[in-house]
Amino acid sequence: MAGMLYLVPTPIGNLGDISARCRETLETADFIAAEDTRVTLKLLNHLGIKKSLVSYYEHNKAFKGEQIVARILAGETCALVSDAGSPAISDPGEDLVRQCAHSGISVCAIPGPCAAITALSISGQATGRFCFEGFLSTAKKSRGEHLRSLQSEQRTMIFYEAPHKLTATLADLAEAFGKDRPISLCRELTKLHEEVIRTTLGQALELYTQQPPKGEFVLVVAGRPPEDKQPPAEDDAAVRVAQLLAQGLSRKDAVKQTAKELNLPKNVVYDISLRSSQEDHGV
Ligand code: SAM
Repeated sequence: MAGMLYLVPTPIGNLGDISARCRETLETADFIAAEDTRVTLKLLNHLGIKKSLVSYYEHNKAFKGEQIVARILAGETCALVSDAGSPAISDPGEDLVRQCAHSGISVCAIPGPCAAITALSISGQATGRFCFEGFLSTAKKSRGEHLRSLQSEQRTMIFYEAPHKLTATLADLAEAFGKDRPISLCRELTKLHEEVIRTTLGQALELYTQQPPKGEFVLVVAGRPPEDKQPPAEDDAAVRVAQLLAQGLSRKDAVKQTAKELNLPKNVVYDISLRSSQEDHGV
């Protein structure tokens, strides 16, 4: 009979957050698949658990996944852990769950620490409807596409970010959503220096331009207010860009000037101007 895959969440800072059920699953599993075996070994030592470990991470997941599935099909039970938090959430695991499901293997996800949900709960932003956006790509094109796809998003948005990329990300978020959009920066959650800064994108950018960000961050950004659904400035922007184009300015300069005059993000004005010129040409 086939064994089983358990997804075991581990603490995101406070070791006291490991649950009795997670501990028991780590103890009783036949083997543990870990994102970084050294990190997991420290946790196991803390818990007094000795167990066989295999590595399962981004760059070996294709062939390691097959080996893990084969072992589970042969009857073993596997506990999957990432370095911290919930496996499969911006962490290795998604593919393994799919492979197991395709092979008819039962998967059990144990609830537990997850940086996104911990941040959302403490953020003070609306929690009724939210979307998880993970890490923004570092590739300019897909990053821009991702942010543009969120421009009319009304749900609260959750992003993960590394500290050394935080300032650039805040600048891009401010450009996409406007400097006045509320944000909660949830830092070092469950750790000694846990901090939540509830501010705006513009002020957050100012703060972290002056003082380099340290520690781990989740960014919880308010969605677009419903009354902004049809921005009144949209028609004005289309008309103004058209005027400036008629005066001989390039589209880039026309967009730049209009954005400045109407206090709108440049990429928003650019999209409006393209849409309006396509409509003019009956596209
Ligand atoms: N799977 C994990 C989870 O769901 O909790 C997330 C793993 S992802 C590779 C790591 C990111 O989670 C970090 O870059 C940061 O954005 C966030 N994170 C993890 N621990 C955190 C903490 N203690 N405080 C704030 N953010 C944290």
